[in-house]
Amino acid sequence: MEINNFKAYCDQFDRASSELKLDKDLATLLKYPDRELSVDLPLVRDDKSLTVLRGYRIQHNNARGPFKGGLRFHPCVDKDEVRALSALMTFKTALIDIPFGGGKGGIQVDPEELSTRELEQLTRTFVRAIKPIIGVHTDIPAPDVNTNAQIMAWFMDEYSETHGYTPGIVTGKPISLGGSLGREAATGYGTSIILREVAQHRGIELNGATVVIQGFGNVGTWAAHHLHKFGCKIIAVSDRNGGIVNNNGLDIGALLEHKKESGSIHGFDDTESIDNEAILRLPCDFLIPAALGGVIHKMNANELRCKVVVEAANGPTTPPADDILRHKNIPVIPDILANSGGVVASYYEWVQNLQQHYWDEELVNKKLETKLVNGFYEVAALAHSREELSYRTAAFMIAIKRVADAVTLRGRIS
Ligand code: NAD
Repeated sequence: MEINNFKAYCDQFDRASSELKLDKDLATLLKYPDRELSVDLPLVRDDKSLTVLRGYRIQHNNARGPFKGGLRFHPCVDKDEVRALSALMTFKTALIDIPFGGGKGGIQVDPEELSTRELEQLTRTFVRAIKPIIGVHTDIPAPDVNTNAQIMAWFMDEYSETHGYTPGIVTGKPISLGGSLGREAATGYGTSIILREVAQHRGIELNGATVVIQGFGNVGTWAAHHLHKFGCKIIAVSDRNGGIVNNNGLDIGALLEHKKESGSIHGFDDTESIDNEAILRLPCDFLIPAALGGVIHKMNANELRCKVVVEAANGPTTPPADDILRHKNIPVIPDILANSGGVVASYYEWVQNLQQHYWDEELVNKKLETKLVNGFYEVAALAHSREELSYRTAAFMIAIKRVADAVTLRGRIS
């Protein structure tokens, strides 16, 4: 089903800004990105042929701090998707109250079709193309779908060629190059902490709670790892090729070993196959979409049989699906809260890079947990204070108010 992510985000923004009774012109200013850069990226393939790929860096708002947000390498990347993702970053950093704005970037490419050399060249060409608008105090990228610590290392190296050693230009780097302990796991770990708080708040027993995870990359695997440690029963997971299910619960440690050895979740012992649509319909306590946007939409929302949706992915639930789930009494814990652990740890990485002083993992995780728990209870308090206020609208209201205050105080609307 074709989903316009930007339109979906605009709907979410409009609902919250009208609850806030935000001035119309201020709302327009906050809704749309400050700057949009499209770049054409030439790539000489290993067979010497030339391909030109389209890339983007979109800077949504920097009233509260430098633009901050990931880089996605995926065939579906387009301007509207990057716009929506950049805006979600502004409101995510505001909601969780770290001194960043929001931005996002991406290249329309399937990295699985590239060799390692091609991937490195493409990354370096992209850095050169967006270099005029990024900087340690201006715009700091990070990993997202199909990008990882190695790509961040190439990114940092290319930028440092002209600016000197600059680890703070990008987060999600390898530890040996200024990455932070705890960053790689932080998004999934954060999702598991939020889920734990939701369970407690809503009276769902965490020990033995059943969980389904769509998407088993960085975020999905770390969420599974930590939820398994909390005693949850992960009954199904999936990747781009479909999923596996075992109603008695998957042994997550053994599954991660199997994935490491075979490169895939498929073929794991004592499991049955399931497709990426059907996995969403499995009865469970918690459904965690942890892959792409728009997967829960008006055509399938009615068929969900979970108690709560926890959005580890960005933008997985469309506004019409939100409404359907509300009528079905299935609360949705929004992306800007549920996956904010990644950007919080990125912030800690950036702070360590600026200080050139590094923290141990325990300190990172402790600070991360405190931020997320406070964030959840702030959202929950507002959501429960008024009839008909979803967690998403409450989260957006808190975030929009903070960005509006910063824009106003900085005199940007004079
Ligand atoms: P990733 O590339 O590491 O993993 C993505 C996973 O999704 C893979 O298992 C892939 O096979 C699977 N997938 C791809 N297409 C799919 C499909 N059509 N159906 C089901 N599964 C599919 O990416 P990631 O970093 O884990 O990001 C996942 C989501 O979390 C994205 O929405 C991203 O924006 C969001 N997110 C990531 C971070 C981060 O720190 N990495 C932070 C915040 C939010």
